[in-house]
Amino acid sequence: MEVTLRPAASHIEVIGTVRLAPTSSERDTISLVLSSWVPTLAVTASDSSAIRVSSVTSDGASGDRRWKIALSHPLMAGRPITLAFKYASDSLRAAQFRVAPDGSVAGSGGEIWYPRLAFDSLATGVLRFHVPPGETVVSNGSLDRAASDPGRGVFEFHTSSGVRFGFASARYVRYDRDGKSPITLYLLKQRLDADSMLQRLSVVRAALEGQFGMMPVTHYAVAEVEFGGSTGGTSEFGFFLADRSYVREGLPTPFIGHELGHAWWGTRVSTKPGPGRTFLTEGIASFGMLRALEAVEGSNAAARMRHSAYPGYETSNSPAEYFALAAAGIEQAIGTFVPATQYDILAMHRMANTRGWFLLDMLSREIGRHRFEAILHAVTAKYSGGAISFEEFRREVETRAGRKISWFFDDWFDRTGAPTYTLHWTRISGGVSGTIAQGAPAFRATVPIEVRGSAGERVLMNVWVGDTASQFSVHVPFAARDVVLDPEYRVLRWTPAVRTASLARAGLTRADFERRFGSTDRAIALYRAALDSGPPEADTSAITFSLEYGLGVASLAQRDSAAAFVALQRAVSRLHRDSLAVPGALLLLARLAHARGDDDVATRAALAATAADAALGRKVGIEETLKMLPWFHKPP
Ligand SMILES: [Zn+2]
Repeated sequence: MEVTLRPAASHIEVIGTVRLAPTSSERDTISLVLSSWVPTLAVTASDSSAIRVSSVTSDGASGDRRWKIALSHPLMAGRPITLAFKYASDSLRAAQFRVAPDGSVAGSGGEIWYPRLAFDSLATGVLRFHVPPGETVVSNGSLDRAASDPGRGVFEFHTSSGVRFGFASARYVRYDRDGKSPITLYLLKQRLDADSMLQRLSVVRAALEGQFGMMPVTHYAVAEVEFGGSTGGTSEFGFFLADRSYVREGLPTPFIGHELGHAWWGTRVSTKPGPGRTFLTEGIASFGMLRALEAVEGSNAAARMRHSAYPGYETSNSPAEYFALAAAGIEQAIGTFVPATQYDILAMHRMANTRGWFLLDMLSREIGRHRFEAILHAVTAKYSGGAISFEEFRREVETRAGRKISWFFDDWFDRTGAPTYTLHWTRISGGVSGTIAQGAPAFRATVPIEVRGSAGERVLMNVWVGDTASQFSVHVPFAARDVVLDPEYRVLRWTPAVRTASLARAGLTRADFERRFGSTDRAIALYRAALDSGPPEADTSAITFSLEYGLGVASLAQRDSAAAFVALQRAVSRLHRDSLAVPGALLLLARLAHARGDDDVATRAALAATAADAALGRKVGIEETLKMLPWFHKPP
């Protein structure tokens, strides 16, 4: 493929040939998919055979379009065909397919930016880029130095094992870390913490190679991009793309851990249709995140993540989000549910990122960390370049575990929910005895208990909880003052506090989920219903603020800016507000006020947004956003 980018005009031009493998039956049409951001596609047959392309038509869909290539004569079974294609697109501003002066990007998992037989088709080949001089292209495979001329904006990459192509191009500042596992970091501007980011990337890479096996590529790269939306990062074959917002935070360890985890799960090992599909990519990538955290920041940091107390993960990508979804009735069993709609797929995505990784951590303790590592190494080796199903994954774990482990899959993967354990204990001579009780059906697990003495003595013991009431007795060489169930939160379980908080937010959780992944209409109805039912008893967790903010965003999505303005005004005037969301809410209010011609309110809201962001250590980057608003002028 020859890919020419003209960022100033948001223009891309692609010319290429694709050799399609033979099929077992005769065919007179070939169907290819391509994003609807590409309005036209020209295709000709480039074989010497007599077969020509007689027509190229598309279904005109708005997401991914299916193009039908009709052939002049049927192509015999067992015969490959080479097609030449050409297309161009202007005003490219999709999340994972954009061409812009501040950088261009095409991800392999978003909009389909080059013709493929199906979304997850893999390909090998040569990609030659023509970009404005001064830009650097990051793409798959290896850069052919002889065929490239970076000074003139020409970059040629060769890929010899199957990938989905992706690239990023910008005026990058390049930072390298050599050694036996070299890593390159491409940043949109110079940063003082570039070396510490590289250092962290390299430690995480080593930790994950310990967990999952050696990386399929020697030289790995990370490139900063501006996704300009909700995408934080995408994992590509041989590199990952990190949104500017994560780079500004110095590439946090959990973020790197997750994205690097995909180098094995989702890219090297693909998945087969059926249950557990998202778990096998997102869930295991996030298990990598937990292991990375342990390697870089220690086991206390991993415990904080399990406790939903790691900064930035208090309400998302952690058990807290899982329990919120469960309380809102948005839960399906990872091991049995087969998603039928995009909504279902996104729901399972959340299950994988919140419950999935946690269950893998539990499973790794049941089996033993080293043995579990060996199992994952064996799986990545066996399924490398191919695809795995949940059933196959389960079988690999069960046959290699060295003990009976099917009960774990039965209780935790094939069912929804989590136990509420209740601990009763009494002192006996030389120690303590007690019971761990739970409702039926029981969730079997190894549950740690810690016996504490009054002089600070501590003994941690594992109790096998195999039923609704499990007895234990522990000998300790001191007088027990207290017994604490699972102090490091190693077992996924409800606690009274989590249950109360999750139930109080259930209406908000349902409405937010509907807004993000379902229908805006239904979301607005849910926000209004939750607001009408009155504020929760003590709204210190800012539920009303979040409902009003969500209603504002949903109303705006429906182009009802009057309703959005009212909702936003109400939200920001609340006593209890979600401090992390306040800058964004104020900025949105500023934009809505400006659109109404009320520049006084707009300026005041914009300044308040800047102040709120400054209080958060400029986490949101409001000031940078304001610079891009032509109407905003900071008062003297
Ligand atoms: Zn992911």
